[in-house]
Amino acid sequence: MDAIELRGKPVSDNIYSEISHRVKKLSNKNIKPELAAILIGNNPASEIYVNTKRRMFSKMGCSSKIYHLNSNIDQNELLNLIKNLNNDTNVHGILLQLPIPEHFNSNEILRFINPSKDVDGFHPENLGYLLQGSPRFIPCTPYGCIEILKYYKINLKSKHVVIVGRSNIVGKPLMALLSQKFSYANATVTICHSYTTNLSRYTSQADILIAATGIPNLITKDMVKKDVVIIDVGINRIEDDSDKGYYITGDVNYKDILDKASAITPVPGGVGPMTIAMLLYNTVIAAEATII
Ligand code: NAD
Repeated sequence: MDAIELRGKPVSDNIYSEISHRVKKLSNKNIKPELAAILIGNNPASEIYVNTKRRMFSKMGCSSKIYHLNSNIDQNELLNLIKNLNNDTNVHGILLQLPIPEHFNSNEILRFINPSKDVDGFHPENLGYLLQGSPRFIPCTPYGCIEILKYYKINLKSKHVVIVGRSNIVGKPLMALLSQKFSYANATVTICHSYTTNLSRYTSQADILIAATGIPNLITKDMVKKDVVIIDVGINRIEDDSDKGYYITGDVNYKDILDKASAITPVPGGVGPMTIAMLLYNTVIAAEATII
């Protein structure tokens, strides 16, 4: 039997319905959640992401302003912009669209964002809260993965979760969250990365496998055990002869693995739709926190 598809749409619909309820309550108090998205340079994928975010914010009765900066802007000018956004009471969330050009120090910039407006959850203060087990903002993509697991009632308690990829935005926060003493977590977590030797030695032990590497089809059928649950975070653009000129695929060889896994997120349509939903959710939380 083929694996159950863990589609993101019904999960994000649920989140949007809760957001809409909370946005109405905020609106009664004359508060409109607002995100400031900082985009540096001309990365076509990043431009698509921030524009999609803006459309979704507007659809949900929130606002999202894009600050599109030249890649040769001085880092101090950028820090000045963030300082102004930190002090602007109409702005509830500040997002730095990653990746940014290499000559910037992204950690220094992220540290400059007011932690109460850090809706991506990348500020060290927020990462510290997360490690302590009392997160303020959960990074959006890991949050999306968790909401998918909760919605489809995939129990992680005492299970072995293997995460492939150790980035600050996906792998590491997931490792910290899923090993916590939370009702939805309590898993034993293994994290693999580019220096892991014999990757399948680990992936084949996974009850739940989370792939976040950016390498198309890295995970194949022979690397997993029967009935594994797979969360494929990867979004990889492969050029082809179609009108669009490319297609999107994940880090997992989906078709190959379908009759071995018990459940799997499709790409596109799995984790992807969740990231923006959780960004909106975090921005609403940030706006609610301004009510005394
Ligand atoms: P990244 O490049 O920052 O990190 C990739 C990680 O993969 C690294 O930790 C690296 O050690 C590991 N890795 C690379 N090759 C490996 C190998 N052969 N074996 C094991 N590990 C290996 O990437 P990222 O920002 O974490 O993104 C990962 C993927 O997730 C990308 O495809 C990205 O587009 C996608 N992504 C999707 C969403 C979403 O909304 N669904 C959000 C963020 C990222």
